[in-house]
Amino acid sequence: MSEKPIGVAVLGLGNVGTEVVRIIEESAADLEARIGAPLQLRGIGVRRVANDRGVPEELLTDDIEKLVSRDDVDIVVELMGPVEPARKAIMAALERGKSVVTANKALMAQSTGELAQAAEKARVDLYFEAAVAGAIPVIRPLTQSLAGDSVVRVAGIVNGTTNYILSAMNDTGASYESALADASALGYAEADPTADVEGYDAAAKAAILASIAFHTRVTADDVYREGITKVSAEDFASAKALGCNIKLLAICERLVSGKGKHRVSARVYPALVPLDHPLASVNGAFNAVVVEAEAAGRLMFYGQGAGGAPTASAVMGDLVMAARNRVQGGRGPRESKYAKLPIASIGAIPTRYYVNMNVKDQPGVLSAVAAEFSRHEVSIAEVRQEGMTDPEGEPCGARIVVVTHRATDAALSDTVKALAELDVVQDINSVLRMEGSDS
Ligand code: NAP
Repeated sequence: MSEKPIGVAVLGLGNVGTEVVRIIEESAADLEARIGAPLQLRGIGVRRVANDRGVPEELLTDDIEKLVSRDDVDIVVELMGPVEPARKAIMAALERGKSVVTANKALMAQSTGELAQAAEKARVDLYFEAAVAGAIPVIRPLTQSLAGDSVVRVAGIVNGTTNYILSAMNDTGASYESALADASALGYAEADPTADVEGYDAAAKAAILASIAFHTRVTADDVYREGITKVSAEDFASAKALGCNIKLLAICERLVSGKGKHRVSARVYPALVPLDHPLASVNGAFNAVVVEAEAAGRLMFYGQGAGGAPTASAVMGDLVMAARNRVQGGRGPRESKYAKLPIASIGAIPTRYYVNMNVKDQPGVLSAVAAEFSRHEVSIAEVRQEGMTDPEGEPCGARIVVVTHRATDAALSDTVKALAELDVVQDINSVLRMEGSDS
């Protein structure tokens, strides 16, 4: 057993950093036994150096560059976020031969190439399990357990804030605005919730998952993205009537054309999910990822996708792996990008759709609406029509909900444009995709 300690620098002492430092200290003996050498905390990078931070003040520093350059630091754990200053600190660490563990999804979805190259050049590890779905092991299963299989699809609920909001809307019939206000009051949504509710956070995670699953570099800019801000209480009522829930999904797929050409699709949007699909019952702030591989079939990973301690669990797993590699003299898997698959545009992706519209309550409306779907070769699977009344209880038109069979996004967009121009259609209230059913 090696006795030489492994020096660790932790950058950031916030929600996650505090828990990582606690585990390193409280579980020191177990970690040493698992690694074969003790972990020694050399320093903690923060903005505010003070003696009220629950750690010995002499460990704290605001000089990140100096900390990551120290000769006695072997592994740098980056838990500062956002992209900068994290990128600069990680690059400096890798260039000096330190292994790096990070939870920074925004950075990994943007700069994987640059960071992976630097890790490759220095022949060190770059691990980022905590960047996707918090405590849930999904990066390691994809890169290692499934390394001999071919992944076809990864679909998940990877943002706890939006899942909390959508679950509340489903459970209580609340509007989006009221569910967001409750989530903020309870600490599930940040003061500026844009990154979560507009789907940027989920898109970063989709880029990371697609890159790993399909051996192709995919960045956040390659991911088609729609957020949840337009999902209404009425959509939930319609979804319920159709036997569905509504979830913000991150979907990464390997598509095969008729000519056998492979492409990657990575996309994030709210979608109707049939209640018998495993993702439909993932509620509150929980995350889940369903992986489909050719030989393994369907696998599901479920658990806490955020929070200081759950995220620290994933960070610690990476830290132990990186430390073991230092002790035993090896490296974990490198970036695998050999497939270099092209990215499919959203227009070419076939899914089912739900279209909710207000129409005039008069004869012939249904056939006019159906004719537009037919003209654009979008086949209708189900239609529901209900009369509407104004606040005085007087009839004021009707609402039609159409569910289609699989159609391309391009065909559906053309259909919706044509519907909006029909004299009998008063409003297109919403257009959502339906995932998890094949017909
Ligand atoms: P946080 O609570 O905001 O903490 C950030 C820490 O980084 C603070 O200690 C801060 O120092 C330090 N920091 C920020 N900018 C710095 C700078 N320029 N120089 C030195 N120190 C700096 O963040 P967190 O929630 O722990 O998240 C950390 C990372 O984990 C992020 O990349 C996040 O995306 C990722 N992550 C978080 C979660 C989660 O549930 N929280 C889940 C998955 C992934 P001061 O304390 O002095 O301000």
